[in-house]
Amino acid sequence: MVHNPQAGKDLDSSADTIAAIATPAGIGGIGIIRTSGPRSTEIARCMTGESVVPRKAMFRKFLDANNRTLDEGILLFFPAPHSYTGEDVCEFQCHGGPVVLHLLLARLMELGARPAEPGEYTKRAFLNEKLDLAQAEAVADLINSSTTAAAHSAMRSLRGDFSQKVHEIVDQVINLRMFIEAAIDFPEEEIDFLENSELVVSVEKIQNLLDDLLQKTSIGCVLREGIAVAIAGLPNAGKSSLLNRLAGRDRVIVTPHAGTTRDTVEVMIDIDGLAVHLTDTAGLRESDDSIEVEGVLRAWSAVQDADIVLYVIDSEHGIADDDTHNLNKLENGRVVVVWNKTDLTREFESPLSRNDYEQVFISALTGTGIDELVQIIQRVAGYDTTEEGIFLARRRHFRSIQRASEYVAQARSALAEDKAGELAAQDLRDAMDELGQITGKLTADELLGEIFSSFCIGK
Ligand code: GDP
Repeated sequence: MVHNPQAGKDLDSSADTIAAIATPAGIGGIGIIRTSGPRSTEIARCMTGESVVPRKAMFRKFLDANNRTLDEGILLFFPAPHSYTGEDVCEFQCHGGPVVLHLLLARLMELGARPAEPGEYTKRAFLNEKLDLAQAEAVADLINSSTTAAAHSAMRSLRGDFSQKVHEIVDQVINLRMFIEAAIDFPEEEIDFLENSELVVSVEKIQNLLDDLLQKTSIGCVLREGIAVAIAGLPNAGKSSLLNRLAGRDRVIVTPHAGTTRDTVEVMIDIDGLAVHLTDTAGLRESDDSIEVEGVLRAWSAVQDADIVLYVIDSEHGIADDDTHNLNKLENGRVVVVWNKTDLTREFESPLSRNDYEQVFISALTGTGIDELVQIIQRVAGYDTTEEGIFLARRRHFRSIQRASEYVAQARSALAEDKAGELAAQDLRDAMDELGQITGKLTADELLGEIFSSFCIGK
């Protein structure tokens, strides 16, 4: 089923007034409860026994059914349509204890509000066209961002930078489609018209815009998701030392005894804004010790799940048969061979071919080569810090742009090779539908449900 924001209003239970605690669980100086919906002001009047004035900080007592004061604090009222949801919104700022907040929330329910579902405020904002879908998703991404760069990029998407780029391309597709469809309506002129080489140039222009957007979206996805990097290798190669060096502090115990990291150890580090989830694994070697065997199993599972594997080899000992065996089990594309302990070897030459593996020479002890390793991680992850104005994006956006680009490529060949206007027009329509999925102009209701249900309650 395809969603249309106008029709959505009827399907949605927006006649209800919803309420939820907007601040995080636990104790804080201030706690905030918000209501949204047509009965917001009436409920606020009953709750305070006083009138409600728009956009003014009102110091009020919050009362129970017997006019006993439950708490006192600030009441704010944002009348529709100038509020986050586009509906009448009241905000009760009270003391930030869980008991008092729940007492007030229960009172709001008595007065006719119902508990908000996860993401319901933002969903209402979307249905009331305060935000498009990509912007609504950016709200959740901003809240969940784990690095400063991700937060800045989420803000760009929320501000509408990403949606605007999509709209610009949609506008160009619409113009081109209208042009082609007009020609189809006059068959006697269609052939001449389709011969016009400017038409193909226009399609190519759209194709280039889509490719550029695809590149930015791909970086935006990496930035949003972060990457998983596993550090693997034989015991004593220096894996824990490398993790400590990358993390910049001693989180993992480094000892000269082989096989100390029996379980996986995870840390998140921020490399130029990219969230890197690093896992130090147990040494990948055969063992009779049952605890170590379990550690090795977990190590392999972390290695399988990782986007990038840093395979550490002690360059003083050189490559062992076990290393060759382990490397053969991994796909080369996501492996970086890290030759460690180069402080102990002079002018070390790798026996592995540069064509087969990314390789880097480091000393976890002295820090030599770590900057280069960091750059390699960024490159293999597809994270380009030179790209300006990156916005946070999701895989579904990437896939839609990719499909739109394929349709536009088909439209180009329909025009350039087959002179088939009808087919080109259909391909352009399909491309538009794909782009419409991003902003939510044309999005299945199930997908909307999935997107908003992943939000927290109160947002
Ligand atoms: P893991 O078992 O692979 O995690 O190895 P560790 O990080 O525990 O290191 C094993 C031993 O090698 C320790 O004694 C470290 O101090 C030492 N080591 C690690 N990296 C280097 C390095 O770059 N140079 C030198 N000289 N020693 C290192």
